[in-house]
Amino acid sequence: MESETIGVKNITREDIYHVLKTVFGYDNFKLYQEEIINSLLNGNDTFVVMPTGGGKSLTYQLPALLCDGTAIIISPLLALMKNQVDIIRNIYADDKIAHMLNSTLPRRELKQIFEDLSNGKTKMLFIAPESLKKESYTEFFKNLQISFFAIDEAHCISEWGHDFRPEYRMIRPMIDTIGQNVPVISLTATATPKVQEDIIKNLKLKNPNIYISSFNRPNLYYEVRPKTKNINKELIQLVREREGKSGIIYCMMRKTTEKIAELLQANGFKALPYHAGLSGAVRRQTQDLFLRQDIDIIVATIAFGMGIDKPDVRYIIHYDMPKSLEAYYQETGRAGRDGGEGDCIAFYNEDDLIKFDKMEQNNRGVAEKEISDLIMYETISYAESTICRRKLLLHYFGEDYKEDNCHSCDNCIYPKTQFDAKKEILTVLKAIDETKEQYKAKMIVKILLGNDKDKASLKHFKAEKLESYSAGAENDEKFWNSIIRQILILNFLKKDINNYGVLKITEKGREFLTNPKSIMLTRDRDFSNDNEELDDEMKMKGGSGADMILLKMLKDLRNQIAKQNNLPPFVIFQDPSLEEMTIQYPITLDELQNITGVGVGKAQKYGQPFVDLIKQYVDENEIERPNDIIIRSSANASSLKIFIIQSIDRKIPLDEIANAKNLSFDELLDQIDKIVASGIRIDIDYFIDDVIDPYHQEEIYDYFRTASTDDIQQALEELGENEYTEEEIRLMRIKFISEMGN
Ligand SMILES: [Zn+2]
Repeated sequence: MESETIGVKNITREDIYHVLKTVFGYDNFKLYQEEIINSLLNGNDTFVVMPTGGGKSLTYQLPALLCDGTAIIISPLLALMKNQVDIIRNIYADDKIAHMLNSTLPRRELKQIFEDLSNGKTKMLFIAPESLKKESYTEFFKNLQISFFAIDEAHCISEWGHDFRPEYRMIRPMIDTIGQNVPVISLTATATPKVQEDIIKNLKLKNPNIYISSFNRPNLYYEVRPKTKNINKELIQLVREREGKSGIIYCMMRKTTEKIAELLQANGFKALPYHAGLSGAVRRQTQDLFLRQDIDIIVATIAFGMGIDKPDVRYIIHYDMPKSLEAYYQETGRAGRDGGEGDCIAFYNEDDLIKFDKMEQNNRGVAEKEISDLIMYETISYAESTICRRKLLLHYFGEDYKEDNCHSCDNCIYPKTQFDAKKEILTVLKAIDETKEQYKAKMIVKILLGNDKDKASLKHFKAEKLESYSAGAENDEKFWNSIIRQILILNFLKKDINNYGVLKITEKGREFLTNPKSIMLTRDRDFSNDNEELDDEMKMKGGSGADMILLKMLKDLRNQIAKQNNLPPFVIFQDPSLEEMTIQYPITLDELQNITGVGVGKAQKYGQPFVDLIKQYVDENEIERPNDIIIRSSANASSLKIFIIQSIDRKIPLDEIANAKNLSFDELLDQIDKIVASGIRIDIDYFIDDVIDPYHQEEIYDYFRTASTDDIQQALEELGENEYTEEEIRLMRIKFISEMGN
């Protein structure tokens, strides 16, 4: 069949604008939309890279409506296709206008679709690439009038994309089998120069017209923070500062999404988890709640976001950094679609990234592993760099961001000190030149360092004979990686597209080699050091971050109160509780209850003089209290406690309680210790009377009455290890503290 009828000769500019207005409801096109439509209508192969929100799908839907015949639209996800079909049917008020073909359709429906296609009623047919392989379909398509092929999410074709699907490689052979001479349009929202080349090559696009929109999202703010053990506190603080606004928190693991959602709920936020392990119904419901703003926060794995169009998401937090920058760009891209504010904050830790990568990698081949490493290298570069994040992201997508300061990323707002790197740049360029531009960054750095441990891998090309060998020994691996990354951005180097990652010197780099001059570069942030610095700071403040002066005052107060009540001090508050008070500085009884080991009962009974003392201390020393980042532990822990308390009330033997909750007996005692320490009074006499003889009971009880500490080991020593067991002492300590203190 001849399909050369496509062409503007039949379709006028008025026709196009008429459909735009009457069907899609717009007066004007967005950037490049009109050019793309004209390219397709003129019968040209067309290649489109347009970020999400740019109006990508309209560029094939509109021509499909105007052309004779049916457009075949290939898309990877059923849900996405279904969504599109629904939208088109809705705006066109005709179900026959668009169909979706997949293997799960009942026979009757399938027959109807083929009938609509044959009668020329269907303008768009959505199909997954694996269905395109089906012989009965291809045979049918051979005799159908096809207007063009559209390949959506075309980055799936490339192993270098973040969502490689092998079946996408079969698209071109299928189109050839169907054998109609119609144009092909390929579209993606994300593609690096390498992926772009893969797509064009693989789809064998003929002199395609290429349209690449800018990836810059000026309204987004980018920040990367080191991931430390304080991450949950920082997270709560970030969310609290944005209370009532919509946000998405991305995690790598399903378990983490649930844990974090619980933590947020426990701190009073409306949050729910979302991951592929939840049932479809639950996921749909969560999505709806988020869209309707009944909940503010979704804590999700990457499963969330495809096809979600909520324009006013105000922040994206990456609890875990995704492995690829493309995924990072996609996910952060869900913030601020309406052009309003959108904060993108990622917590980064290199070891974490490598750990997640390894988990994925178990059944990968060598070539895939290599690709995966290079993709991860880009993410590490991005996270650790001190260059403008926007500049880095756009460079990754092959775009040159010309501004020196974007005023909307952490690196621009908090610039790092610079140094003259003339000598170091020269050292790198010389090494690449001397080794004839054959190696990737990793190897170049090995040569520059000249470490003994790398000798084996450098041996085969006699690296030791090179002038550059160990020329950079005075600096470390991180330093040289950083120099290479920065001069890549400065276009002194580029990466070979065909042999990805191999460093080539550009003309600009050559010029620098012959005529070097001063260039200022920055040192990267060392995220592992950030951690240490933080720890040091904590250490200086004493044991676990405690304020030693206040701690001493609180202990004195505790001794005083203990004396008045004729009780050992540990019955009032235990040491860890006092230490935590010197970190959190609670100044009301409510706040005091958030301290570990302090419950309502204890706070009421003994708390007032403590918070008074702390308040006075805070005022006198003008201490800034971290009260806005107090974290309440999640609901799960407390449900276990409630279970234990209720079981003890019902006088269920402790070993049975432990069994019921799958705890060891020691673990159960730990839990009961915590319950008692928080000021809740429980009575375990029924159990003690069963397992400890009365004489032993009395001896242990008397011991604690006069002891200066509640330490179990010390009690064992003083009472005699041969006669008493640790278990007995623990049980009696619970009884003692509960009766005396609570
Ligand atoms: Zn910037």
